[in-house]
Amino acid sequence: MKRRLLPSAVVVVVLCGFAEVRAQAGEGAQYLDGIGETALIARYLFNGNSEDWSRNAYHATVHGKAGYFEDEQFGKVLSLPGGSDGGYVQIPGRALADMESLSVTGWVNLKDLTPWQRFFDLGLGNGRYLYCTPVGQERADGCRVRMTAAGYGAEKGPATFRVATGQWVHLATVLDTTAKTLNLYVDGVRVGQTTGVEWTLADILSPEDASENRLYIGKSLYDGDAMLGGKVYDVRFYSIALTDAQVAAIRRNAISEETTDPSGRVTPAVEETDAPVEDAPSVYGAELVAVPDIVAETVVGHLPHLPISLPAEYADGTDGPAVRVVWPSPVDNRQVEQPGTYTIVGAVPGTTLAPKAGVTVKRGSLSKPRAEQQLAPFPLGQVVLSRDDRGRETPFMENRDKFILALARTDPNRFLYNFRDAFGLEQPADVEPLRGWDSQTTRLRGHASGHYLTAIAQAYASTTYDEELHANFGAKMNAMIDVLYDLSRKSGRPATPGGPCNADPAQVPPGPGKDDYDSDLSREGIRTDYWNWGEGFISGYPPDQFIMLEEGATYGARNNQIWAPYYTLHKILAGLMDCYEVGGNPKALEIAQGMGLWVHARLRVVPTETRIQMWNRYIAGEYGGMNEAMARLHRMTGDERFLACAKLFDNTDFFFGNAQHEHGLACNVDTLRGKHANQHIPQITGALETYKGTGEPAYYQVADNFWQICTQGYMYSIGGVAGARNPNNAECFTAQPNSLFANGFSEGGQNETCATYNLLKLSRQLFLFDPDARFMDYYEQALYNHILASVDEDNPGNTYHVPLNPGARKRFSNAHMDGFTCCNGTALESSTKLQDSIYFRSQDHQTLYINLYIPSTLKWSQRNIAIRQSTSFPYADTTRLTVTGSGSFDLRVRVPRWATNGFAVRINGQAQDVDAAAGTYLTLSRSWEDGDTIELKMPFDFHLRRVMDQPNIASLFYGPVLLAVEEPEPLTIWRKVTLSADDLGQSITGDPGTLRFRTNGVNLKPFYETYSRHSVYLDVTLD
Ligand SMILES: [Zn+2]
Repeated sequence: MKRRLLPSAVVVVVLCGFAEVRAQAGEGAQYLDGIGETALIARYLFNGNSEDWSRNAYHATVHGKAGYFEDEQFGKVLSLPGGSDGGYVQIPGRALADMESLSVTGWVNLKDLTPWQRFFDLGLGNGRYLYCTPVGQERADGCRVRMTAAGYGAEKGPATFRVATGQWVHLATVLDTTAKTLNLYVDGVRVGQTTGVEWTLADILSPEDASENRLYIGKSLYDGDAMLGGKVYDVRFYSIALTDAQVAAIRRNAISEETTDPSGRVTPAVEETDAPVEDAPSVYGAELVAVPDIVAETVVGHLPHLPISLPAEYADGTDGPAVRVVWPSPVDNRQVEQPGTYTIVGAVPGTTLAPKAGVTVKRGSLSKPRAEQQLAPFPLGQVVLSRDDRGRETPFMENRDKFILALARTDPNRFLYNFRDAFGLEQPADVEPLRGWDSQTTRLRGHASGHYLTAIAQAYASTTYDEELHANFGAKMNAMIDVLYDLSRKSGRPATPGGPCNADPAQVPPGPGKDDYDSDLSREGIRTDYWNWGEGFISGYPPDQFIMLEEGATYGARNNQIWAPYYTLHKILAGLMDCYEVGGNPKALEIAQGMGLWVHARLRVVPTETRIQMWNRYIAGEYGGMNEAMARLHRMTGDERFLACAKLFDNTDFFFGNAQHEHGLACNVDTLRGKHANQHIPQITGALETYKGTGEPAYYQVADNFWQICTQGYMYSIGGVAGARNPNNAECFTAQPNSLFANGFSEGGQNETCATYNLLKLSRQLFLFDPDARFMDYYEQALYNHILASVDEDNPGNTYHVPLNPGARKRFSNAHMDGFTCCNGTALESSTKLQDSIYFRSQDHQTLYINLYIPSTLKWSQRNIAIRQSTSFPYADTTRLTVTGSGSFDLRVRVPRWATNGFAVRINGQAQDVDAAAGTYLTLSRSWEDGDTIELKMPFDFHLRRVMDQPNIASLFYGPVLLAVEEPEPLTIWRKVTLSADDLGQSITGDPGTLRFRTNGVNLKPFYETYSRHSVYLDVTLD
């Protein structure tokens, strides 16, 4: 049945207040052109060198007779003489490995019409290549793109007129493997398209041996062809198929002063017809008749929390599912400035229903959050994962071991390389630097070392089950800390007795022989005068980037630009504190204290206005969870300076609306709109940690309100967030809440894995204060369906963005742990602590929480009790807990929100009469005896999680497990399925014991077991 989007979904968008929707691109925009930066694989400006200006550090090599030339239009550009022995550029073969679609853009200024000179040529040769030539042999050959993976005779590709000589021309080639097209653009306009192109980039490049891949600019793979003669500027490679608008914007931005945002690619289509709306079947199966109005209360200043799902009345009188209600989301708190009553009108997308909420605004303040954390986790070593009931390794064990075993083989010296380099020390023999974001000149270098410190501390603490591994990680951790300790003691102290030095962090001079600060990290340019850096300084690079941030430096790859110095530092400080707190190394805390005081000494003299500006500066001001790190240092040491420093990282507008603290998250106002997700989530964990130190309720409200707004209005079914098409950056929250369909599902990627890592961390921390099942329901959803799903099948390679478009494919990287993106870094942390939230206890050791149903053993040593959890969950719907030891305590077991078909408890085989509501914790109080067993049964059911503004687009779950459709190829429209309205399970066959199912002629399997193409969202008709 064809259907059109019902008008209420449009109403929803209108209801949401419109804030400024531009991404906070600001100063970095012209650099990024507003296109999700992770899709930018490499960018060569050629303005004096062949460095890659993207963050991937795929620096190119210029061969032969080539030089840089001062050009009127673009400044310095690359000049290639042409002819048979001219010059050309070679790009590292691994740059385009494991890609399918590709876009190449760049400026070319041709000298003459020498035939077959190449703009670029990529491939293995021998009949496998993709090239663009601005001029062929004959006039009729024109400017053309040719691709083949099956020999010369099978070539395909578009062509147009020859390009002009003696002037700059913008050329773009777009291989779109979803649409199976190859496109050619000249000066921002699409001038040719070939359809039916079945090849992907993977067909012309070697996945196994990247050194075989020949990637040239200005040279043909075929040696007989002439080289490019002329000038080249700003050549870029994207891993996505750019849209017409994006290509045009890239060109326009290069030649006009004003930066424009290209509009994004549209979401795969929902088929539309002209059928009148009344004829469309309800997406809810039976016809929805009514959704009741509600009443709510709040206090002056604080926007009310309204339920997002309400029970509905159906025409046939059946008990249909509750429906999602979308309420308007104001951009400030004016509605609740005064006591009184007012009415809010909501919408039920997919219908014309408009339930109302009558809100009473009272004087007074919100009930205070608990000052003390109620629960505590167990040390990592007290919980050990085990095999399932059928003797199989669980997916959790498998992922743990992929990481633990690979980490055990790493050389800590690689992770110390940048630190030694910054302090001008020799490297030990045969130590290779890391690649990617930690390479020599990358301004984020050292970030992976921070994640690594956390990972080896966690691995050390976790491997109580294996002496050899435990010793291995202990030795690695202590060796790392010893070196970092010695380096940190050098900072701000004389290199030789009586030599010059500057101990004051606020008085660091520019490097020797320089009259200003710079971010030059090249072997020739890096400063290593550590005696001038102020006491306590430690990082993967000298202090300049921190100082330049204060002075207004923006994000970029020039020597007067920076990446994100406090982001790198947060990883390092967190790693150090984990080595102390999780790994028990006291020197690690001393290093962290020294650097913490360095940061405090600098920031306390920076004016408030400057700080607010710094933290809002695109990417450059990204500080991870520096506020969390500082508040944590305060908790560990009692030194008040660290708590004061934590507050210096307050993101004032985001937390409190404005400098007067008039609204913001503290007042439940949604300030997430369009913001970079992973930049902001750790700041919230920092707000909660600041609350722990200060007891100021506003910080708690910031964290609690953020969590609700984020998980209700911005979350996809895997538990991830972001993926914005509007604003046009896959790493940002959508421009408006409750609009994933309208503004999300971007082409370049959807859910950044780091963001989910950080949301899990926040959820867990909130739960320790407020043991409400909603936090652990989310935890389970995101742990199984994103974190577990983010790791490759047989190695520790892992995902950056997890794409959710129909027929998409996960891309894994860093199997060898030698070139880390942010997400490769957080993956090290996630997979070395998979057991950390299965069990919690109350602070007084009187209550034990069973949060997750994962085979494992808990040693509750403080009570002399062990709990063994045996289960095959989620390949079974039961679990059994066996008590060793005895004593009285409350056992609180989670009744998952999806367990709507009952929840049965047997103790020592006896059925218990319990009142277990889905989405709560059930308390079992007893004096437990050695050998007692508790069996829990929670029947699974198929259920849908719908996209909030397009309810027919939904994910199918079985219990906690998201089921993905196996797809043979990319799709341009959503996978359609028809399911039984009465009971989804009637239209699905398969085996719950393997979680392999079939419906509508397609196979379904857990998303966390999916390594090929998948559809996570389906276009569902209920019949
Ligand atoms: Zn990331």
